[in-house]
Amino acid sequence: NHVHRRYADKHPNSARQHRLSRTVLPAGISRSVLNIEPFPLAVASASGSLLTDIDGNDYLDYLGDYSVGLAGHNPEAVSTAVTGVLESGWALGAVTVEEYVVARMLCDRIESMDLVRFTASGTEANLLAVSLALRSSGRRSVLVFDGGYHGGFLDYSHDSSSLNVPFDVIVCDYNNLDAVTATFETAGEQIGCVLVEPMLGAAGRIPGSPIFLQGLREICDRYGTVLVFDEVQTSRMAYGAAQSLLGVRPDLTTLGKYLAAGFGFGAVGGTASLMRRLDHAAQPHYAHSGTFNNNRFSMAAAIATLNTTLTRDNLDLLFVRGENLRVHADTLLRPHGFQATGWGSLISIHPTTTPITHAADLAGADQRLTQLLFHEMLHRGIYIGKTGFVTLCLPQTADADGLFLTTLKDALAAIPTCVK
Ligand code: PLP
Repeated sequence: NHVHRRYADKHPNSARQHRLSRTVLPAGISRSVLNIEPFPLAVASASGSLLTDIDGNDYLDYLGDYSVGLAGHNPEAVSTAVTGVLESGWALGAVTVEEYVVARMLCDRIESMDLVRFTASGTEANLLAVSLALRSSGRRSVLVFDGGYHGGFLDYSHDSSSLNVPFDVIVCDYNNLDAVTATFETAGEQIGCVLVEPMLGAAGRIPGSPIFLQGLREICDRYGTVLVFDEVQTSRMAYGAAQSLLGVRPDLTTLGKYLAAGFGFGAVGGTASLMRRLDHAAQPHYAHSGTFNNNRFSMAAAIATLNTTLTRDNLDLLFVRGENLRVHADTLLRPHGFQATGWGSLISIHPTTTPITHAADLAGADQRLTQLLFHEMLHRGIYIGKTGFVTLCLPQTADADGLFLTTLKDALAAIPTCVK
C-alpha cells in the first residue's frame, strides 16, 4: 500500500490519464502486458536509453519495450531513413525495393532462410508459419510448449484461454524431450508442426537446452513434421539468430520485435520448398495478403537497423554485456530469495531460488514480490518490466549496467523482510 501510494504521489498525470483511458479502452490499455498496479505508467518521450513520463520523471530504460528497443530510442540512422519515407511517400499499393533489401539481408544472415514473407507483427508471422506447416503436411495438430508465447492469440501460459485457435493444439513440457517423444509415439502422424521458442520468453526467459532443441529437430525429421523456431525474441542472440548458436536448422523461423526498431514488423522465413507455397505459381498455392506487410516505414527502418546497429560486433558485445549483467544481478538477488534467468541480453528476475527449467517451476512463485521490486527500481529511476523482465539496448554503457546493479542492491534492501 505504501508503495502504491508513493507511486500515485509521484505520477498524478499517469493516474489522471488512466481514469480517462478507462472510459474508452478496456482496463485503460491496448496491450495487456502494460497493466501495472495501481495504474500504468504513461510515457511522453524517449531518447537513447532514457524515458520521460508524462509527469516529467526520467528513467533509465532497462525494459526496452519488451525487447523491441535493441537499438535504443530514436537512433539517428532510423530517423533519417523514416524521414526519407515521409518525403517520398508510403502506402504505395505496389512492391518496393526496400522489401527486397530487407529480405536479402535476412537470408544472408540466417542460414535456414531461403525465402522470406513479411507480416505486420510477430503474432501474424507465427500464425502464417503454423498455417504453412499444416497446409504442407496435410495434418491438423500443432505441438507447443507450456508457457510458450507466440503472440496475442497464441499464448500457452497457465492462465491463458487462447487455445481458441483454428487448429488442434497439443501442449508439452518445455525442456522435456521424453514427453515430446511419448507424444509423438501416440499422435506423431497428426502433428504437422512443432512451434517452439529457443528460450521461453514471456514465461520468464527460460533457455531451451541445446540437447532439447536438437532433439526436436531429430523427432520432426523422423515424423515429417515442420519445425518452427519462434525467434521473435531470440534472434538478437547472434548475427545468424539463436539457431546459429544452437546448431539447429529449423524449417521455418519467425522474426519480429527489434528488427524494425519499433515500427510494426514480422517475418517468416525458411526452406524454399515450404515458402514457395506462397508463390501463386505453386500448385496448390496459398494466398496471404496484408495491407501493412510491406509497410514502407517498417522496411526503411529495418534496413537502417540491420545496416547500422545489428552488426556482428554490436550483437556479440550486447550478448556479452547481458551475460555479465545477469551473472552479477543473480549474485545480488539470491540472498534476497530471487534469481535471474536468461540468455545474452534478455534477462528475467524471479522471486524464487529453486532451479527453473520449465514454466511450471514458476507456478508457486509469489509474483507480488517481483512487482514490489519493479516499484522499488522505478522509484530509484530504473524502468524494468513489472514481471522482472530486463533487456539491454546498445546506447547503454557499462556505467549504466553498474548503476543498474547498485540500484538493484538498494531496491532489494528496501523490500521489507516480512514480505520476502
Ligand atoms: N513470439 C514471441 C516469442 C514474442 O515474445 C512475441 C511478443 O512478445 C510474439 C511472438 C508476438 O509478436 P507481436 O507482439 O509483434 O505480435
